[in-house]
Amino acid sequence: MAVKTNNERVYLSSPHLSGNEKKYILEALETNWVAPLGPNVDAFEREMAAYIGVEDAVAVSSGTAAIHLALRLLGVEKGDEVFCSSLTFVASANPILYEGAEPVFIDSEPETWNMSPQALERALLEAYQVGKLPKAVIVVHLYGQNAKMDEIMSLCNYYNVPVIEDSAESLGAYYNGKASGTIGKLGVYSFNGNKIITTSGGGMLVSNDIELLNKARFLATQARDNAPHYQHSEIGYNYRMSNILAGVGRAQLGVLEERVQARRLVFERYYKQLSGINGINFMPELENTKSNRWLTAITIDESQVGVSKKVIVESLGRENIEARSVWKPLHMQPLFLGARYYQHNTYDNVSERLFKVGICLPSGSNMTEEDQMRVIHCIKKSLRIEEGV
Ligand SMILES: *Cc1c(COP(=O)(O)O)cnc(C)c1O
Repeated sequence: MAVKTNNERVYLSSPHLSGNEKKYILEALETNWVAPLGPNVDAFEREMAAYIGVEDAVAVSSGTAAIHLALRLLGVEKGDEVFCSSLTFVASANPILYEGAEPVFIDSEPETWNMSPQALERALLEAYQVGKLPKAVIVVHLYGQNAKMDEIMSLCNYYNVPVIEDSAESLGAYYNGKASGTIGKLGVYSFNGNKIITTSGGGMLVSNDIELLNKARFLATQARDNAPHYQHSEIGYNYRMSNILAGVGRAQLGVLEERVQARRLVFERYYKQLSGINGINFMPELENTKSNRWLTAITIDESQVGVSKKVIVESLGRENIEARSVWKPLHMQPLFLGARYYQHNTYDNVSERLFKVGICLPSGSNMTEEDQMRVIHCIKKSLRIEEGV
């Protein structure tokens, strides 16, 4: 009898609904709380703040909007500089351009793949010496892995520069017992469709500074002054989350813990099957931290495995499996041509190196074990590794 092989597409990270979303959506429809804002938004904000352990949270239309608001709250203006991780998605830095400010990119270090404290220290010292410290530092927690926040916070506190944590990918991760995104002045999460939980599209800005977040609510609703008529003195935005989508978010928040467990299990299966192969290495996890393992990322040493990362990604593609290269560093993007960049050290350009050899593997919490085994077999096949008889 012929073995029927399942050839359905395996996605990198697809939305995974809990089944409880309908209840909240229907409630919003039945009570006519469709817009604007409403009880689901208030409750989602309260529940998020309580879950991650901060004073307050503001639900917005995207993670990008949350980063933009964070920059506005910190007074970033035309001509200012903002430091930002280089190895990340473009949305981390686009809002710097919205404000006409200049991004300065900081390399990664090898132990977390995130912002290098050594490179940051050099960048801050030079900025201090020329009398132009950045208005903010945006630290990204890549693929759910925490950056070295102790080192980064002590440098930024020393120079008195506020930190924005781009935790779009790291909701549910912990650093020394603290939720990722709650250590800097402001934290940002994303509920885009591919993230660990989703509202189909949305974001959240969090902080312990309640006044700052009230200002965010003001800016996110067209910056309407307190007056009997429509009066405006500042540029505002239409950035708030709808009450229907906040309902989806409440249902999703209820299963976040399960989603983290599922993604960590996906990582463990890959690790068990592939870590024994010389030339394949996994994104590390720092001691005393817990990554949410949003995406399992590996590096391919071509000199050891005999094929390049490109060949592996392509052979996965032919089997209808979506794998992606690690982010192309932002300092290499045409959009940011000419931006300053601080390398980890003279000998190691970590983000460029990781871009050359790094692959993100399908890591969805709803991926079946069978589909994950397809991914693993396909990788082994492309490395010409014979599997058991
Ligand atoms: C997804 C993502 C964003 C943007 O979030 P959106 O909700 O899609 O706007 C920002 N930064 C990083 C690192 C991301 O992965």
